[in-house]
Order: sequence, then structure tokens, then C-alpha cells
Amino acid sequence: MFKEGCGVIGIWGNSDASRLAYFGLYALQHRGQEGCGIVTTSSNKLHIVKGKGLVSDVFCDDKIFDRLPGSVAIGHNRYSTTGEKGYRNVQPILIRFRGGEIACVHNGNLVNSASLRKYLTDTGSVLRGDSDTELIMHLIARSGKPTVPEMLEDALSKLQGAYSIIFITPDYLIAARDPHGFRPLELGKLGHGYIIASETCAFDIVEAEYIREIKPGEILVIDKDGKINSHFPLEKRREAFCIFELIYFSRPDSKIFDVNVDKVRRDLGRRLAVESPVDADIVISVPDSSNSAALGYAQETGIPFEIGFIRNHYIGRTFIKPGQLERDIDAKIKYNPVKGVIKKKRVVIVDDSIVRGTTISKLVRMIKSAGAKEVHLRISSPPIRFPCFYGVDTPTKEELIASSKSPDEICKLTGADSLKYLSLEGMLSLSTLPEHSWCTACFDGKYPVL
Ligand code: SF4
Repeated sequence: MFKEGCGVIGIWGNSDASRLAYFGLYALQHRGQEGCGIVTTSSNKLHIVKGKGLVSDVFCDDKIFDRLPGSVAIGHNRYSTTGEKGYRNVQPILIRFRGGEIACVHNGNLVNSASLRKYLTDTGSVLRGDSDTELIMHLIARSGKPTVPEMLEDALSKLQGAYSIIFITPDYLIAARDPHGFRPLELGKLGHGYIIASETCAFDIVEAEYIREIKPGEILVIDKDGKINSHFPLEKRREAFCIFELIYFSRPDSKIFDVNVDKVRRDLGRRLAVESPVDADIVISVPDSSNSAALGYAQETGIPFEIGFIRNHYIGRTFIKPGQLERDIDAKIKYNPVKGVIKKKRVVIVDDSIVRGTTISKLVRMIKSAGAKEVHLRISSPPIRFPCFYGVDTPTKEELIASSKSPDEICKLTGADSLKYLSLEGMLSLSTLPEHSWCTACFDGKYPVL
């Protein structure tokens, strides 16, 4: 499985801004579980609470919200793609500089962070953490421009790579998306105010209405009076929306990049069925991320969809000593096959992707030991052969099983009776996909920026 890299939220114009940000972070928990935090503004000051762990761990007491007054807030769920996992890198990052106080939350990954870090330290900056976000804050603090929005613009013009970012100051809430548009960032109406978030599932929980996406290269400034100013000062780049957001990362009940995630996943499953049908008795998913694709595969082939795995959602941290317990215990803690459904059946397992190949091999073994006659793997994306440099925690190329092995070799290793991937052309030809240019670098190695 891939791991995601961060969820961001911004609330403008609600007296309960910190609580709304908190609910939004709950909805975005799947995007990062390592740490989280909220910053609000009131009385010309910023207030911060952040810590390591899940939203329910950090915001475990209602009194915490007394420390977060104000009608404007930003929040963040962290999964580290750069930087160590310590508290120092938990966001929001808040600084005080000559322009006053500013805090920011960031989803993405800069590809020029090494040269920015060198430039900053060579010219006297002292860096505390090792995240990209801190670099951005230093660039803002060093800008010679007269106003905070102009300082931000100046700093952002020096960045290369992926960023969907929200800033808060006592005077402004500012959202920006990199000119490639790698990561999603959505704008909604929340009562008389606004909400900005990585995915619209954060809108639903607080009953906000979707307005539109923040566009690639857009900087959207909401001032104290609620006046919105949108502009596009950054150099135009080729659009490269992360197609993996639709395949796996985002929640199926979200709308991102102008499309419903569930709709695209079902179509991926349907297209996979057209490309690689199989004679079988049941179709099952690997919950939760491949549910929609498996349903699409079942609908297209007419093979019944069944609940073949039950997923345990209450795992938290597990301590497994290698060799001490039975084989595959880590997968067994997470998934259990429904034996009555599987026994004596020819089973199609639809999954969204194969990364290292270890989990899927364990799942095939589990389904076979539950009595399946045959197991056919159908993957609703092409083979992942290259690492991501844009904010997704992928292993190295060597660890990606498809970088060195053919589908037939992978099939043999997993112990499945057949294995087919969706083709790249098939994936990109879906009529449901909005007309954007997509980043497909983890499949074809064509990196939009390095
Ligand atoms: S390399 Fe893959 S995961 Fe990374 S941004 Fe591109 S499509 Fe998304």
C-alpha cells in the first residue's frame, strides 16, 4: 500500500472556526495519521495547538478549543514525505517576523528543497526542522516585498514541485496551489464564510457547499472583510494533476479535480473488466480503497460482487515480533476473509495498486486457505514502476515490485492463478476523467518536474 502525504483545511468567517477545522481534520484523517494541529487568529494574534498522533489523540479534551479562539482557522494532518517524524515537523508551522505572525499548512513535496536549504543556511538562516514547509516560511520572512500577500507571492515564485498550501495571518487567509496542480485544493461556502480543504469530504461533515477548485498556479486571498482576491502571478507550467489521488488516496465520497472520486474508480473497474475479463463466480474488493473499482468490475462483467474481506478499522499501533507469531499476522490483523463467501469459489480480487507485492501475496494466501478454487487478481491501475517525488510516500524504485518484474512474474510470486493490470491508455481514455493533463510519472517515469 501507498501512504498518503497530508491533508489541509482552512476556515474563514465562523465563530467556531477551530471546531469546524477539527471536524474537517477528522474527515481528512486518511491523508495522514502522524500528527495534526490547528492555528486560529483573534485579537491580532495567532493561537496554536498541535501534537503527534491522530486528531482524536491531539484534540482529546473539549477545553483545548478555549485555547483556539477566533473565526479563522487552518489545520493539518501530517504524513511525513520529507523530514523526520518528530514534533518539530508537525504542522501548522508558525513564525513571527517583521510582517507579524504567520502560520501555514502544506500538502506536497518540493523538488528543489535541497538547493533552497543550502541557499538559506549558506546565507545565515537557522533551520529547526527538516520539512519543506519551514523553508517556505524562511523565504517569506526574507522577502523584501512590502505586504504579506506580496511576500508570499515572492516566496512561492522560488518553489518547484508540489504544494497545496494555506496560510493564516491576523489579516488574511491565503490559499495557493502550485502551477502544475499536483495535489487537490477545493473551495466551499460555509454559512456566510468559506472553507478550503484537500478534499470535499471535509465540506460534508460541516455542511459546507462546494464552490470550485483552487486552480493550478492560483493564489486566493481572503481579507478581514471577506473580500476574495484571486490571481495567477506564478509562471505557467504544464498541468500535472496526480491521477493516483483518484485511484487510491482520496476518499470515494470526495469531489476533487472537478470529479467524484467514486465515479472514476467505478469506471476504472469497468474498463479493467473490458480489458481483462475472467470466468469466475464472485468479485471481491480489498476494502476500503478498491470497493468502487470492484463494484465497477462486477457491474461490467455481471459477476456478483461479494464482501470477501472484513477490514479491522481499529488497529492503531501493533507490535509484532518477527518469527514469533504465525505467518502473515500483520495482514491478518487488518483483513479477515469471509469463509462462507469464498469457499469452493473462483474469486476475482480487485485491488487498486500493487506497490511492494507483499500485502497482495498475503491476501491471496488468505483467500486460498479460506477454500477458494481459483484466485484471479485484477488491478485497477497500471504497474507502478517509478517512485513519486511530489508528496506521496512511495518506496524506492528497487522496492517497487513492478520496476523489475513482469506481471507474469508477479503473478507467480503472489500465488494467484492470473494477474492483469489496467493499461495506461485504458486508464487515460475514461470518459469520466475531466480534461486535465495528468501526472502519470509513477507508471511511465515521465516526471513533469525534477
Ligand atoms: S508520481 Fe504518481 S503518485 Fe506522484 S504525483 Fe505523479 S501520479 Fe501522483
